[in-house]
Amino acid sequence: MNIRAVKEGKTEVLVPVHEEGVSFPPSAAPVFYNPAMELNRDISVAAISVFAKILSERRNIPVENIRYLDALAASGIRGLRIANEVGVHTTLNDWSEDAFELIERNIEYLGLHDRINASRKNANVLMHEERFNIVDIDPFGTPAPFLAAAARSAVHLLAVTATDTAPLCGAHLNSGIRKYSAVPLNNEYHAEMAVRILLGKIARELAARDRFMRPLLSHATRHYVRTYLEIGNGAKKADRMLEQVGYISHCPSCDFRETHAGIAVHIASECPRCSSETQLAGPLWLGKLHETDFCGDILKELEKTESGTKEQAKKIIELCRDELDIPVFYEQHLLCKRLGVSASGINELIDTLRSCGFAASRTHFSGTSFKTDAELDEIESIISML
Ligand code: SAM
Repeated sequence: MNIRAVKEGKTEVLVPVHEEGVSFPPSAAPVFYNPAMELNRDISVAAISVFAKILSERRNIPVENIRYLDALAASGIRGLRIANEVGVHTTLNDWSEDAFELIERNIEYLGLHDRINASRKNANVLMHEERFNIVDIDPFGTPAPFLAAAARSAVHLLAVTATDTAPLCGAHLNSGIRKYSAVPLNNEYHAEMAVRILLGKIARELAARDRFMRPLLSHATRHYVRTYLEIGNGAKKADRMLEQVGYISHCPSCDFRETHAGIAVHIASECPRCSSETQLAGPLWLGKLHETDFCGDILKELEKTESGTKEQAKKIIELCRDELDIPVFYEQHLLCKRLGVSASGINELIDTLRSCGFAASRTHFSGTSFKTDAELDEIESIISML
């Protein structure tokens, strides 16, 4: 395999190349490597660094004793960066022979034998055999086949990437139903739908093991969803967590939406606003997507780094930090089209909602989306008056 060294953050890593200096398309390489995921990895390094500090300060676990698993490591670039830049003890696992060899070469290249070990197992077997303080799942497409084992293996933090946004957001409906045992809706807030369907599935996997989660950060960026979930144990707490799983009924005629918390609820199908038939999405996560303090600490961490995507990463995390935790966002242009008015600037709309006494924020999902606690009638009258 031809290889070359690339630098991401503070770490040089060997990755496969097609010919001298010419990169493979990620899926055609003998070992997967996608330079476009640098942003995802930059945020990961900052988030894991913040969480490692939390573990060492609150639970007295020295950073070098924290066990981090990159369960689907490929070249190892994610875990190599985390071992090198955060300092946690790292296991890099991949069942492919080529990937395993490249991981071993990378450990040699960085001289980090004391901090990293390579493993060549089926990730599900490894996660059923061993527990890690932090488990990271970064698969091809859907993480669904790995969630049961990851929900068992992750002691304190579970980080998950999903690149199967079409099933998650309802564009490939049956695939989404099969993988996530839930019904997504493909409408204007499909990006948030994808995040909430994924989190709903993980919450149910954890609950089956009397475990619970607290989302610290969740973002939908480009073609993927990424989430960081603090994990804990206890049947009662798992029951309370499940109260944050439920359904959204959505009226496609007037854009009315209503949340129904709890998995076993009776949901009427007539829109109380315009009497059209509503559509139902779920079960999905209705709780918080982010913790403000955690996002704030990631921002401080990003500020210190040399990451290539620093400004983009900061923008995403700032928007997540300031986003209202209300399911689900409104799309300003869709509402304006329905009302037959032209759209004001999004900041003007948010300022006006606030000056009328409502909570309102932008979201990281799209530049023309907003969240508010105002009722739809109130939102419409404010939009019409701008
Ligand atoms: N995390 C990597 C990164 O940041 O570049 C990318 C990982 S790549 C998308 C997915 C990897 O998972 C592939 O290298 C594949 O060989 C490996 N894989 C797929 N199924 C696996 C399984 N059941 N057990 C172990 N490795 C697996």
